[in-house]
Amino acid sequence: MAKRRVIDKRRAKKLARERMDILFGLAREVFASEPELARRYVVLARRIGSRCNVRLTPGDKLSVCRNCNALLVPGVNCRVRTHARRVVVTCLDCGGVRRVPVTRERRGKLNKAPLVNTG
Ligand SMILES: [Zn+2]
Repeated sequence: MAKRRVIDKRRAKKLARERMDILFGLAREVFASEPELARRYVVLARRIGSRCNVRLTPGDKLSVCRNCNALLVPGVNCRVRTHARRVVVTCLDCGGVRRVPVTRERRGKLNKAPLVNTG
């Protein structure tokens, strides 16, 4: 039987976060020319996150379609509207809708997300 390499959890999580950041950076870089490759990077980043129990950063979480894993860029492949105290993000690739409530408690979090600069 093959010897199993033991990496302590904290190190594994740190490594996972690093790799997810790199993949999201790459996804944003190639999105304009190769959206399918960007989608692949997003899939890989999400998979690493789920394996290592690491969440996406709030900004990354909002710029990904849960349904089809597309990287969402407002004005390009997603529609961002406000409706009934919610930010409604519609993926134009698959039609998936994401509603994010805007409440007093979450305002701080939302301001950090890239969604605010929709123009
Ligand atoms: Zn989608």
